[in-house]
Amino acid sequence: MSTTQFMRPAAVSPKHLLEPYLAEITDITPEIEGVSTYWLKFTDPAIQKAYTFQPGQFNMVYVPGIGEAAISICSDPQNPSSIGHSIRFVGNVTRAISHLKVGDTVGLRGPFGSAWPMESLTGKDIFIACGGIGLPPLRPAIYHVIRNREKYGKVTLLYGARTPKELMYTDEYEAWRKAGIDIEVSVDRGDTDWTGRVGVVPMWFYQFRFDARKTAVLTCGPEIMIRFVIFEALARRIPLDSIFVSLERNMKCGQGSCGHCQLGPYFICKDGPVFRFDALQPFLNVEEF
Ligand SMILES: Cc1cc2nc3c(=O)[nH]c(=O)nc-3n(C[C@H](O)[C@H](O)[C@H](O)COP(=O)(O)OP(=O)(O)OC[C@H]3O[C@@H](n4cnc5c(N)ncnc54)[C@H](O)[C@@H]3O)c2cc1C
Repeated sequence: MSTTQFMRPAAVSPKHLLEPYLAEITDITPEIEGVSTYWLKFTDPAIQKAYTFQPGQFNMVYVPGIGEAAISICSDPQNPSSIGHSIRFVGNVTRAISHLKVGDTVGLRGPFGSAWPMESLTGKDIFIACGGIGLPPLRPAIYHVIRNREKYGKVTLLYGARTPKELMYTDEYEAWRKAGIDIEVSVDRGDTDWTGRVGVVPMWFYQFRFDARKTAVLTCGPEIMIRFVIFEALARRIPLDSIFVSLERNMKCGQGSCGHCQLGPYFICKDGPVFRFDALQPFLNVEEF
């Protein structure tokens, strides 16, 4: 079995691949400066009912007359009736989305891509290391763990942002802790109220002790952070096939036709965004000890 294909969920219908369906914005949650979560629901109840996704997958969100952007699904896979997308307003499409209101519609196609391999991690300790807007694609995995807490060993979330104001989903941390997830938060620069950790994610990752034989690492965030997290994980003898990475690249079609998101032999949209590191290693340039 290919190292990239093992995580691929059941295929989406061919019609769904290129044709966006209309989805209504049912709610907007402001998260941090320049990022809001848009809650979407297909206007056609039959399409909404049939829609399912797995943790780590993404949708292509389309603003008519402007274009499309790949956006991870950040909500609970067990509740696909409301599909959450935390969106940072950076360019043409996302800025256009920032002007939309509840009741407006966008086009949506998906879900696309590979998923975090939650079933095959049963029995393992899980270490989630993520930064900034790398948390949204991991939030569905966190919900999955919480729902199936007995299936996993120790679960740790190490999350970093540049400043305390840039930490996502802070109002959920307490519930996640109560559900049995160790949460360690760090910022690059604290403010006068900050009493927590200061420093980048790989630096703190280095401090943790874990059993390399039974720990899987899931990582997403700025690519420089990912590289150093992997570097530290390999230094700790975590096997290459126990490290999972979600990558973001500029993409257009979302289904492996246009080549915008190509990395070596892979299309990030189709073969990723979640990869097992042994498949990526030759192309991501992280040296092994
Ligand atoms: C699998 C996947 C999942 C993703 N998930 C999310 C998510 O959950 N949330 C999220 O917010 N984003 C996510 N992204 C990223 C998002 O798809 C991109 O940021 C996308 O490009 C936004 O589209 P846009 O049209 O708004 O920005 P674009 O216009 O494409 O601009 C994107 C970036 O390029 C810069 N840029 C634009 N034009 C120029 C120019 N002419 N010269 C120099 N720089 C320029 C912008 O400043 C910005 O930083 C994801 C991407 C992938 C591949």
